[in-house]
Amino acid sequence: MFGVFAKPKIDENAGDDLFARIGEFLAAHHLSPEPAHYNFAHAVISDPDGPIAHAVARLTFDGVALSGRDVEELGGQVVPRKEMRGRSRNPAGPAGTTPPETTPTPANDVAEAAALAAEAEAQVAGFATMVKAMHAETEDFGRDLAAMSSQPAIAGIDEIARLTGSMLNRVRDAEERLARATREADTLRAKLAEANDTARTDVLTGLPNRRAFDEALLARDAANGPYCIAVCDIDRFKHINDRYGHVIGDRVLAAIAKTLAEQCSGHLVARYGGEEFAILMSLTELPDAVDRLDRVRSVIANKRYRVRETDQPLDRITMSFGVTTLQPDEDGGRAYDRADRHLYTAKADGRDRVCAA
Ligand code: GH3
Ligand code: MG
Ligand code: MG
Repeated sequence: MFGVFAKPKIDENAGDDLFARIGEFLAAHHLSPEPAHYNFAHAVISDPDGPIAHAVARLTFDGVALSGRDVEELGGQVVPRKEMRGRSRNPAGPAGTTPPETTPTPANDVAEAAALAAEAEAQVAGFATMVKAMHAETEDFGRDLAAMSSQPAIAGIDEIARLTGSMLNRVRDAEERLARATREADTLRAKLAEANDTARTDVLTGLPNRRAFDEALLARDAANGPYCIAVCDIDRFKHINDRYGHVIGDRVLAAIAKTLAEQCSGHLVARYGGEEFAILMSLTELPDAVDRLDRVRSVIANKRYRVRETDQPLDRITMSFGVTTLQPDEDGGRAYDRADRHLYTAKADGRDRVCAA
């Protein structure tokens, strides 16, 4: 490795563009602005007739960038770039190669919004790491500058000090930009998290929707077992719509959702679709699930719903339930189908009942 600017041969008149030439060299060979890379570039540029500059010219005569190995064989040191989490890396290429950015995932549907939220989170973590790395670099440059200042005999010290000062400014600029980007990514993450919530909530009832239910079923923790799964359907709901209109039908749906959630608090109650609800009951044996659901059934059947504006009582509303135990390691979809078959039996047997097995 090079010593700190040992015997640099600097043309005093060329000092002003030395920084620019070093910058061009680093960019051409995909080297980040690390002190070690700067050292190497300086050694090549400050001694254009020296053996290192000749070797570089030979290796790059056809426009090829130096590889990390080339740099090391010529006595330089290659500092790997700090990686950003959540980004793909290009495994091949010259030292310090910048990988192509991955194309941002289009948020054209809610599932991709979730993926974007995860990426934004990774981005924020990556930015924070980069800001820390930049701080460290600032300190490194500061140390180098102090070391150089204590060697006044070295020729060209003025240019080097100016150069290093300029690099410090660049690092500070970069820090500010990264801090701003971090704030922007934070805002994006919050917005995406909100979109994520919206995508999993039923608008009419405010309950988790089918997507949320299926995900919870898939991600269930065995430690919270045994689980029961219930499928619940309002009886003859079409009749409610036909008789009182869809607006009243919607209100009935929302009222029943509220009752279900209250009566089954501690469990996951979701609107699965239409006038059908699903409940995932944790830490519940089947007989307890049946008891609980039968209580819910009774509460709903004994309520007298009225039209708010006219106080007109609605016909009695009832609900049927199918429930089953979710075996450990069982596919959630299979258990759901079994509960649905019990619901079918409850309907066939006269409705307003709980059927289990
Ligand atoms: P069953 O006892 O066999 O379940 O009879 P049902 O009438 O409840 O069943 P069916 O499947 O024939 O009808 C369900 C009705 O629920 C039809 C549909 O218009 C209504 N529905 C589904 N979603 C909504 C909604 O969001 N709002 C309103 N108002 N009605 C809905
Ligand atoms: Mg129904
Ligand atoms: Mg139905």
